[in-house]
Amino acid sequence: MKKVVIVGHKNPDTDSIVSAIAVQELLSALGFEAQARRAGETNNETKFILNDLCIAMPELITSVNDDESIVLVDHNEQSQSFDQLDFSKVSQVIDHHKLSIKTENPIYCRVEPIGSTASLVAKMFFENKLEIAPATAKLLMSGILSDTLNMTSPTTTPEDRALLDELNKTAKIDVDSFVAEMFKAKSSLAGISIEDIIRIDYKTFEMGKHSVGIGTWETTLPESVNEKKDEIMQALIHEKEAVKMDYIFFMVVDILKQNCQMYLVGEKESELAKEIFAGKTEDGMMFLPGVVSRKKQIVPQLTEALSK
Ligand code: MN
Ligand code: MN
Repeated sequence: MKKVVIVGHKNPDTDSIVSAIAVQELLSALGFEAQARRAGETNNETKFILNDLCIAMPELITSVNDDESIVLVDHNEQSQSFDQLDFSKVSQVIDHHKLSIKTENPIYCRVEPIGSTASLVAKMFFENKLEIAPATAKLLMSGILSDTLNMTSPTTTPEDRALLDELNKTAKIDVDSFVAEMFKAKSSLAGISIEDIIRIDYKTFEMGKHSVGIGTWETTLPESVNEKKDEIMQALIHEKEAVKMDYIFFMVVDILKQNCQMYLVGEKESELAKEIFAGKTEDGMMFLPGVVSRKKQIVPQLTEALSK
């Protein structure tokens, strides 16, 4: 039997974890010996969801055996993968981010511009005419709802809505109250240090010749994070120096009011942000109304400016 290990990106979000678990089920049903893993500590939203569904947290990935191949979900950039990844062992990618890989051998690749990897995995269940258990349906719904910020992010597509409705024919949940609980858990700072705030949803990108780190904190209570601004700024400056980034940004996203505060740690970041975004800057933070998506509203603009 073919052995596969499924893993999402570092600093995993809900989509990375639930997609890995659901792909484990999908591939098991298709005859693989499949194991979902995680590439780091999970956030309070993900913990709430797995707890709610009585699903065990996937084990942390440290190494992959010689007889196992790797399925990457919710990312395809090597810099976003777990550190020990041997890219030649990747046999499949299931993702909704821009493609940035070049492989030595042909691999299975399913990448679509859709709101979440969970949406794509749901599609694969339906295409394969596999039965979806109610818990799996709810699990996939949580990935869709988390990544699309309850269908409000500009990354949301009509297909995400249709898939959510289709899944709920099986899960039969009250979506609004479930989302409210998810977002409450996501916003909770219980057990979260300043370093965690930065790292829990942090990604690095190569833009032109520059390395750029962008952290995101999605919350219904932006004040709870913004009141720690000075400490967060210090930690960002420390991180930027420690890992030798050219730029580091941090976004506090207000899920309910649909805006973000972009933390600008230095001159370079301030100048670049002012060149690209038209937000008002006060006390080292730029206010960006309507901006909630790093993938769609921040990364392409920064990449274009830094590639010139
Ligand atoms: Mn993700
Ligand atoms: Mn995703």
